[in-house]
Amino acid sequence: MRAVILGCGFAGLSVASALSAKSRGVEILMIDRRERFEYLPSLPEILSGKVSADEITGSLRKFATKIGAEFLQREVKSVDFKAKEVVARNPKSSSEERIPYDFLVVAVGAELAFFGIPGAEEHALSVYSLDDALKTRKRLEEAVQQEGVKCVVVGAGLTGVEVAGELVDFFSGRGCEASRVLLVEMAQRILPAFPEKVSARIERVLRSRGVEILTGNAVQSVSEREIELLALKEKAGRKIHYDILIWTAGLKPNRISANFPAEAKAKGGWLKADAFLRLKGYKDVFVAGDIAHFANSEISGKNVEEAERQGRTVAENIMRSIKGSKLRHYSPKNTVQKPRALISLGNGHAIAYFNGFLLETFAYRLKKYLERKYMRKFA
Ligand SMILES: Cc1cc2nc3c(=O)[nH]c(=O)nc-3n(C[C@H](O)[C@H](O)[C@H](O)COP(=O)(O)OP(=O)(O)OC[C@H]3O[C@@H](n4cnc5c(N)ncnc54)[C@H](O)[C@@H]3O)c2cc1C
Repeated sequence: MRAVILGCGFAGLSVASALSAKSRGVEILMIDRRERFEYLPSLPEILSGKVSADEITGSLRKFATKIGAEFLQREVKSVDFKAKEVVARNPKSSSEERIPYDFLVVAVGAELAFFGIPGAEEHALSVYSLDDALKTRKRLEEAVQQEGVKCVVVGAGLTGVEVAGELVDFFSGRGCEASRVLLVEMAQRILPAFPEKVSARIERVLRSRGVEILTGNAVQSVSEREIELLALKEKAGRKIHYDILIWTAGLKPNRISANFPAEAKAKGGWLKADAFLRLKGYKDVFVAGDIAHFANSEISGKNVEEAERQGRTVAENIMRSIKGSKLRHYSPKNTVQKPRALISLGNGHAIAYFNGFLLETFAYRLKKYLERKYMRKFA
């Protein structure tokens, strides 16, 4: 019996670990286009230099060996559900291969969305992968040579507010007091997915650190040094100059989902998960992590906590499917309706929002502890 896991991020690794702990006689094959795992929550800190690439990445091959699984570096192109085969490209030989499976887990995550805004994808930098974050950092190092660099961060969700905090640290670490960081958000307040008290607290911290905040403004277009904004209430447009533009504004499902059957997709193309995290309409295909859309009375959030919880449930349900026993219901905790997060704002300061409470003492230390604990898996 062979379980093939597509994508070795938080969800894929959680499936692989839990499956290897429970299974005997199940061959586990982990597939990722990258050789190294990337700890995404720490990518904003690449900008300020608080973490290095080595500290927040780990060898997937080493991890697989440790848990008794196999790892293949392949770019997944599509899935042939009828033949029960994955179609993947070998990056070294560029040849295409078909990889058979008995059970499949799709955990390939999400991609940045630019919503078709003219010029956005072409001109904006990002922190969505280690390569993106290193490229952005390089551009910051180049720009810092000039006086009064202006950085615009588009999107004031979790990643946007963290990036703004790290940019302040980057510039203050170089004595560039004249540099400016502007955070632009289309909603009427930052962190619109969180309750107002979280937005208000984080806005106060960021403003006190010198970040300018512009809410209620939608980006219309981007050119080489300017973004065009529309103030939604006033219906007034304006153009803003930038030297560095960092896009954090939205997510879309990984492109491989484009070839999945329409009935297995929710609005926006996310893969629909049933109550047991099987891809809707399939008994031998499971979904986990950001690419999955799960809704019961609440909608599962796209975060590390749920990616890992989903991974554990998927592993359990693969084992139960093999034994022919009743599957376990998945029950999310960090949901769209009740989000919780650890949000770092630079300068060693973080805010935890959990079960309606805001906590600041030790929040940053807790965030770093979780990072180090996770990365020990690769040691
Ligand atoms: C900058 C940033 C900061 C974040 N901060 C936080 C935070 O503080 N707290 C929090 O809870 N969440 C945070 N998140 C969100 C969190 O990282 C995601 O929810 C989580 O990574 C989802 O896990 P996943 O396994 O679904 O996807 P990922 O972790 O993205 O993993 C997907 C994997 O699939 C692989 N893959 C993709 N396409 C292919 C393909 N075609 N072929 C083969 N392999 C492929 C990728 O290489 C990757 O390894 C942050 C995200 C970002 C980008």
